[in-house]
Amino acid sequence: MIPIALPLLAEDEAEAARAAVLSGWVSQGPQVAAFEQEFATLVGAPHACAVSSCTSALHIALKALGIRAGDEVIVPSHSFIATANCVRYCDATPVFVDIEAETYNIDPARVAEAITPRTRAIIAVHQMGMPCDVTALATLADRHGIFLVEDAACAAGSMIRIDQNWEPVGRPRGAIACFSFHPRKVITTGEGGMLTTADPALDRKFRLLRQHGMSVPDTVRHGSRQVLFEDYLMVGFNYRMTDIQAAIGRKQLERLPELVARRRALAARYTELLGNIEGLVLPFEPDWARSNWQSYCVLLPDRIDQRGVMQRLLDQDIATRRGIMCSHREAPYANGAPRHDLRWSEHAQDHAILLPLYAQLTEKDQERIAAALRAGLEF
Ligand SMILES: *Cc1c(COP(=O)(O)O)cnc(C)c1O
Repeated sequence: MIPIALPLLAEDEAEAARAAVLSGWVSQGPQVAAFEQEFATLVGAPHACAVSSCTSALHIALKALGIRAGDEVIVPSHSFIATANCVRYCDATPVFVDIEAETYNIDPARVAEAITPRTRAIIAVHQMGMPCDVTALATLADRHGIFLVEDAACAAGSMIRIDQNWEPVGRPRGAIACFSFHPRKVITTGEGGMLTTADPALDRKFRLLRQHGMSVPDTVRHGSRQVLFEDYLMVGFNYRMTDIQAAIGRKQLERLPELVARRRALAARYTELLGNIEGLVLPFEPDWARSNWQSYCVLLPDRIDQRGVMQRLLDQDIATRRGIMCSHREAPYANGAPRHDLRWSEHAQDHAILLPLYAQLTEKDQERIAAALRAGLEF
């Protein structure tokens, strides 16, 4: 069986988790602090704050920016539903806009049309690891005095060219970027997330919000030779990452460059193998973007039955997934959530499929997948 994804976890991670357990400190502590430092360095962000998931990161991001009832936040519908849900968590209104057909990323021209006097923020997703056009979106956000939040859940290790320099996604172009370490992403801590920002005041708010609004963290009280009493400065959450997860994350970070290089090679190989299949649209990487290839997405010709092709591949022990979901089609948003024309979002969900891609995938596997897809389309 060829799965859709497979995390690369080995002895290094197991050893790090074991050491964290045996240290006697398993909740948010020194491993989390070290993971934050190393992640910040890797993506070139002044501040990084670890949390329990990207969903909690997105929630904290909007809370820290003061998003509340009556506010509109522009989001792509074509994203994992957490992107829209975090707006609802703040009692604000997600406004759905369409993606660009080529990159599956939010279309800056559609965002511009959707801005109203109530718009307070844009959440831009680097979908499937492909960088979105944050340069255009940051310009737009600045012009309208609204916040840009990057949902970089899938994009650890992706790069973007700004002026003439290649920079990692996560040195936030907007106010905040949020990452996921779910096993479906390129590096994992089981569950986990990270917020990056250049603004020290926002970083301080993240640290309060993730830990009940507590003025003095338990790590500080634990290490103090003086009796310290904490205050609770706001209604916060328990969105902490554990030291066991962070210890694993630090080992995963060491692997990231190698994992991205491997994924880029596998994606290039897919492009070679699939390039001559009539009517199949392969992923497009703009010349200013370098994807980490969290997913490899192909668009089937209109006449082809998506579910049928996926079933024929599954019958040959090859797992696939359909195109990224559309949040506006799901129960929480199906009735009356504000939306603009979403034709490319729906088209991508209904006609795209994601192919297996992970570091341990072999070239033989890829040849088998390509042959099965070719046969599946001719069926
Ligand atoms: C996976 C994903 C999330 C959610 O991440 P979790 O860490 O599972 O909460 C949010 N947004 C996008 C675009 C994702 O792909």
